[in-house]
Amino acid sequence: MNVNYQSILKKIADVSKIDSQPVYFIKVIETRCPDCPYDPITGSTGRRYCPSCGGTNKIITEEKLEVTANVEYITGLETQFERGGKFEEGTVIVTVHRSELERVNLPTEDFRSDSVSYIDVNNRRYTIQHLTPQYLHGYMYEIIFRLNRYKQGV
Ligand SMILES: [Zn+2]
Repeated sequence: MNVNYQSILKKIADVSKIDSQPVYFIKVIETRCPDCPYDPITGSTGRRYCPSCGGTNKIITEEKLEVTANVEYITGLETQFERGGKFEEGTVIVTVHRSELERVNLPTEDFRSDSVSYIDVNNRRYTIQHLTPQYLHGYMYEIIFRLNRYKQGV
């Protein structure tokens, strides 16, 4: 049987643009404060009243990568079940096509749940609970991310 995988993948790519929206993959980057003197022997943590870092000797920056994705909110009324039980209410399912990950230099096959710090969907922050790469004929064409609301301090 001669299956035209290229045309199937093309169809998937086209469909992935329907009913889609921007979501933001956020990487939190922690760097040493450039305005604090660093003592490698004592490991001194900077100036107490440093205006740049407030004495923490750390500068936190966020890299925000916009990708186009399909977003599905789990309301708890779904009839579909996943392995191990029902989707938890409040879960968000985000499907991102490979071409979108590549466009912003995110990992593809080797994407891990800690590859990014958060995913921002409609101005709410989520963490990756689980991710499922989708393959066709050995080619990974999209990743389905199962997200949970980010709870600060937990
Ligand atoms: Zn500083």
